[in-house]
Amino acid sequence: MTTQQALEELLSEIRVIHGDGDIPLHRPVFAGNERRYLVECIDSNFVSSVGARVTEFEQRVAAYTGCAHAVAVVNGTAALHVALRLAGVRRNDEVLTQALTFVATCNALAYIEAHAVFVDVDRDTLGLSPSALGSWLRTNAERRAGGTYNRSTGCRIAACVPMHTFGHPCRIEEIQSLCAEWGIPLIEDAAESLGSKVGDRHTGSFGLMGTLSFNGNKVITTGGGGMILTNDPARAARAKHLTTTAKRPHAWEFFHDEVGYNYRLPNLNAALGCAQMEMLPSMLRVKAGIAERYATACERLGIHYVKAPPGAASWLHSIVLDDESQRDWFLKVSNERKIMTRPIWRLMSSLPAFAKCQNDGLANSNWLEQRVVNIPSSVPDHIARTLTP
Ligand SMILES: *Cc1c(COP(=O)(O)O)cnc(C)c1O
Repeated sequence: MTTQQALEELLSEIRVIHGDGDIPLHRPVFAGNERRYLVECIDSNFVSSVGARVTEFEQRVAAYTGCAHAVAVVNGTAALHVALRLAGVRRNDEVLTQALTFVATCNALAYIEAHAVFVDVDRDTLGLSPSALGSWLRTNAERRAGGTYNRSTGCRIAACVPMHTFGHPCRIEEIQSLCAEWGIPLIEDAAESLGSKVGDRHTGSFGLMGTLSFNGNKVITTGGGGMILTNDPARAARAKHLTTTAKRPHAWEFFHDEVGYNYRLPNLNAALGCAQMEMLPSMLRVKAGIAERYATACERLGIHYVKAPPGAASWLHSIVLDDESQRDWFLKVSNERKIMTRPIWRLMSSLPAFAKCQNDGLANSNWLEQRVVNIPSSVPDHIARTLTP
């Protein structure tokens, strides 16, 4: 069988799994108490910035991820922005991160006028590579009083932000020890990895802070939303303060003790989040079943399917094709047949806003950029209909 024939077979298998009609890449499923909680929320009049669902949603996510604190915010980009600020990132600092990520990771540090330094990813995890990180640090960094500095730019290296691509954890324990060794605060962009653990610890709980996203295409959704995870009570309190206009609590007075953000998650969105959290385990079970079917089909067809390690959940399923021209052929054929597929992101180092940032050559990132394609990853309609809270 030629690779093209194998890919044609994969498209047939995708049809069998997801059914007829247009197949989206990742669409939300509202099979639980979503409607009920939204109506209750509207009936209560607490649809906006005050309401009990926000606290409940935070508690549910904290309990699920095993983090002491979770602070709900308006989206995942805002969560990253505030987490970076609370890690002490300031203007002209540098932040070590991956070029193979969604643009939000880099936008958040650019809001602070910090600079990204792009370090390569591992080919198997698609996430920040500890060996590339270690070698970049040994070559370029030095510890001085007050922090770790980039020898060539003189800038302080204020944070490291690995991302768990498509839900697959990067080698976070090794990254964590490197960050500890070099005294660099670790912030995990766990926007895509709700439900993924390394050992018995949830992604997003290894760093000083972790962030989640509940955008419409993520594992679960609140319409738009995000969460800051941390075990540090002082940072959690400050995250809440800063994201709610920095208003000092008072029965009637408006006193704001610094420039804050209006980053709070409305109660309406949090109500949706509470219902979605109830559905999360069953949705993850269905998604794991789909992953099994993709893995089996790809093994039979000789296609490279990116497997999630044990304990991890694939948010988006992905395959690695032989080269760019095969990738482009597959994207064209699949999308023409209303089977939505997408290439992995263009590297951040190729975007105008980040083209001047330092990088380490990004060999694996470039290799993956040309070859990785996401295939349909939703809970299929006919299964979604059978789910109950
Ligand atoms: C979705 C996502 C975010 C956050 O996105 P929002 O749309 O702002 O919620 C951040 N980083 C990554 C890698 C993402 O995929």
